[in-house]
Amino acid sequence: MSVNNQGCWFCETTDADDSYEVFLKKDESKSVVNVPSCSTCKSKHKKAIIGFLIIFFVVSLCGAGLHVAVLFLSNAELSGPGSAIGAALALLWCVPALILAFGWVSYCSKGIKPQRHTIKYPELMEKLNDGYLMVKPD
Ligand SMILES: [Zn+2]
Repeated sequence: MSVNNQGCWFCETTDADDSYEVFLKKDESKSVVNVPSCSTCKSKHKKAIIGFLIIFFVVSLCGAGLHVAVLFLSNAELSGPGSAIGAALALLWCVPALILAFGWVSYCSKGIKPQRHTIKYPELMEKLNDGYLMVKPD
């Protein structure tokens, strides 16, 4: 497949030397759309996703862990409804974790479209509007 002479969809400044393959299916017909990308954008996207996962898990796990530790150290009631409330509060750490993780993604995607904008590629949008569904590659 050739992606030559096509600009990168994500930065719109570099010639695409790579692409994202999106697999589509509508009833029995299958289709593949190549969203042109340059290798720089692709590596930024990769960095963004890896960072997102690391930040999310580290912040939410550390936050929740710290939270539980504080609960144990305090004289809080840890049985009955108290423990359920404590667990729910610990889960709230997912919120700042998500905010930080999304902040990282927008930091990584500065000046380029984030990877989720793959779906806004005109040729792909056309297919989706036409009733195609995105599927996993065979
Ligand atoms: Zn690019």
